[in-house]
This record gives sequence, C-alpha cells and structure tokens, in this order.
Amino acid sequence: MILLLYLSLVIANIRVLMEIKFIGATESVTGSKHLLTSDSKKKILLDCGLYQGMGKETDPLNRSLGVDPFDIDAVLLSHAHIDHSGNLPLLVKEGYGGKIICTPATEEVCKILLMDSANIHENDVYFINKRRERKGLEKIKPLYTIADAEKCLSLFHSIPVNTDVQIFDDVWVRFTEAGHILGSAITNLKLKRKNGEIVKLTYSGDVGRYGDMLMKDPDPFPQADYLILESTYGNSLHDKQVDATNQLLEIVKNTCLVKKGRLIIPAFSLGRTQEIVYTLNKLFNQNKLPKLPIYVDSPLSASATKVMRDHHYCLNEDVQKLMEHDPDPFGFEGLTYIRKAEESKLLNENKSPCIIISSSGMMDAGRIKHHLIHTLPNQKNTILISGYCSPGTLGGKLLDGANEVRVFGDMIPVKAEIKTITSFSAHADYSELLKFISCQDKSLLKNIFLVHGETEVKKGFKIILEKYGYNNILIPFKNESVKL
Ligand SMILES: [Zn+2]
Repeated sequence: MILLLYLSLVIANIRVLMEIKFIGATESVTGSKHLLTSDSKKKILLDCGLYQGMGKETDPLNRSLGVDPFDIDAVLLSHAHIDHSGNLPLLVKEGYGGKIICTPATEEVCKILLMDSANIHENDVYFINKRRERKGLEKIKPLYTIADAEKCLSLFHSIPVNTDVQIFDDVWVRFTEAGHILGSAITNLKLKRKNGEIVKLTYSGDVGRYGDMLMKDPDPFPQADYLILESTYGNSLHDKQVDATNQLLEIVKNTCLVKKGRLIIPAFSLGRTQEIVYTLNKLFNQNKLPKLPIYVDSPLSASATKVMRDHHYCLNEDVQKLMEHDPDPFGFEGLTYIRKAEESKLLNENKSPCIIISSSGMMDAGRIKHHLIHTLPNQKNTILISGYCSPGTLGGKLLDGANEVRVFGDMIPVKAEIKTITSFSAHADYSELLKFISCQDKSLLKNIFLVHGETEVKKGFKIILEKYGYNNILIPFKNESVKL
C-alpha cells in the first residue's frame, strides 16, 4: 500500500505540467523557437526559425531541430522573417504534419521567403558538392528542398488578427499587431489548467517601431501572466528619426544630376525596398523627383511588393490616406520592376544616370553584386547603404571604407561614393519596448522571459526593466524549461 502511494506520488511529480522550453534565440538574435506544453500535454511550437550568420556553427545548429516533429500538435508563427520561419520546411520534412497557424499576410509572405530560402539551400549545396566531388568527398544534402518548402506551405492555416481562436480544448490564441513587418503579430495565448484556471502567455515575436513609414504601430496587447519578450535593441536607443525623404532626394540629385552618375541602393526585398520605393513615390507625387529611369531589379522584391499591395490594409493610416488618391504607392511613371535576368544584365550596358534598387541588402548575394562590379570603379556613381550590414559582408566592408573589395573572385576598386541613411529600422529600441509593454499591469506579470538578443544586451535590458519597476525577469539559457 505504502509502495503504491509512493509510486503514485512519483508519477504525479514526473507528469508534465504546463511549461515553456526555450530552444532557440536564447543567446542570439536568430533561430527563434520555443516549445509550450499545456496541462493536457498539447505541445505548441512558437516559431521555428533558422540560425543565420553564426559561421561554421550555423549549419549544424539548423540541422538539429531540438524537438521531435512527431511530438508537436501545432505551430504558431509570429512573422515571416527567416530567423522565425526558416526551419519550418525541415520540421515538416522530418515528420510534422499539423497546422502552421499565422496571419493571412504572413502566409503570403512565407510563400515567397520560404521558397527563396529552399532555392538558396539547393543552390549552395550544389556548389559545395561540386567542390566535394573534386576532393573525392561524399556529397551532402541541402537542409531542405523546394519540394519540402512546398509541402510545408500546404500546412499553413491563417486566422484573422484581434480574434480569439480556439485551437485545442484548453488553448486559445489571439494575434495582435506587432508593427514589425507585413503580417507580423504578437501571439497571445490563453491556456486552461486542469483545475479550470486560465494562464495567459504572450510571445512578442519581433516588435516594430512607433511611427514607422509603412507599418502600423504595435498595438497594446491583453494582460499576460507570462511574457516572452524580444530584446534585439534592449540596451540601445535608435538615432533620432531624421528626414529620410529629403536625405534621399539630395543623394539622388547629387548623383544623377550633378555627377551624372548612377545611384545603386542595395535593399532587403521585403521592407526596405518598399520603404525606398514609397519615399520615391512620395517625391514623384510632389513633383520633386528628377525625371530618371528607376529600376527595382529583383524578382523577390517584385513579388514582395505585390504581396504588400495585396495586403495594404495591414499598412498604416498615412498609406491608406495616400491610397485614396494614389492607388499604387509602390508604382509611378519611370519605375520598372525587373524579374528576368536578361533584362537585369541590359541595365549595365547603358551607363546613363539612373537609380537601381536591388538585393541583397548586405550585398553578399543576388543581382546587386553585378551592379557593384559595374558601378564601384567610377566616382560619378553612389552606393547608398540603407540597412544593417554585418562586418564580414561586402556591405560591411564598403561601410568600413575599403579601397577595394572582392566580388566574384575579382578585386574591384572602390571609387564610387559610399553614402548611408540609417533612419530605417524595423526593430523597437528599449524606449519603444518599454512603451510596448506599458499596457501591462506590472503586478500581474509573473515572469518576463528575455529572448532574441545578445547575452550582454539582455543583461542590460533586464537592469533597465527593473529600474522601471518590472520584476521576476529571467534570461533563459538554451533548452531551459520553466514551469508555468
Ligand atoms: Zn523579424
């Protein structure tokens, strides 16, 4: 009898109760992935992102999911950025067959970004295998293929924002506006304990800025018991927002009218490209833009712009107002979107003044590299850097003032002017994160978990949060589980 009582106590103790396990983005700003278990043992994965830019560690980190795909009952996806969505095709390839729940716009953006990601993985492995073959080494397989991405996309299930949706007997989800990129959402969960008590957990995903050019402000979100909060800029403040429109106009005039050169703008396909086109569109409407041919040279950017047009209801009031008299804020006379490679090559035969917006933003991949070969050696031209470039990338080297850079194996002299506009950013700084969580009653928050930030940044953010009266702030380590 005593033995039976003892055994039942042991079993009760090892029974999995509601918990959250932090699998990715614990010591970095990529690889977001957290596993929530409900009282009824439903396992819900919050994001399934790729690790990016971690050198030799990147590939092994991505190949090990850290979860059993057969064990998971649902995936909730905060937004389409690859560091949050990019490992979903591997999850599906390895056996996950449930729903991937997100907002309608996130589903559309993922159709472009996940297919592009699969294409990159297939291409990279093709070239790696050519080298391995020469060395007599065994071929490797891509992380996932286009077919895997297609299968993954068939599991997407979009739900409206600002609406409670029951996904299991004991779990409800409500997406609210995050203001970060098109479709991005804050994930608010309600979980019912066995005793009927409701536990509220909110996962911020990535939080956008207030007063963004295109995106809405992040919305206040329902009171949470537990908050998983991103910390990308948790210890820093962005520069005061300067007038990017006039800065851009001055650079256009100086390059194309005064120097009679070409202006090359490397830009991320989703977000930055549309911000720049929107700014140029505004200048065009005001009759301030010189008459010049302008090209967006990237099939991915063209597709991303189409998704943004189709989901313009996700954009802020200023854009909606503009659209009352200008139905296409991403198109105007003189602007051409280029998809075909042959048309892209033709751009470099004619040397007359023009503006070319192309990807990738950090200049280490894509068509931008061809444009740099043709424009860097001439001082008439300008390269305008409008986003973050990590130090090792081609963009990082240009920012660092390199006199020459290697592009496709050749050393190219840097004679063109290198300019920057730094006022664009998609992440909230700490003052904006404080504003974002100010909708919460501090005394009701049981824990704040800081994720998606470098370790030192999170430590700094924790001190700031404590100064503002927030308590019980935890910085979880990789694979740490916390009972809720
Ligand atoms: Zn993001």
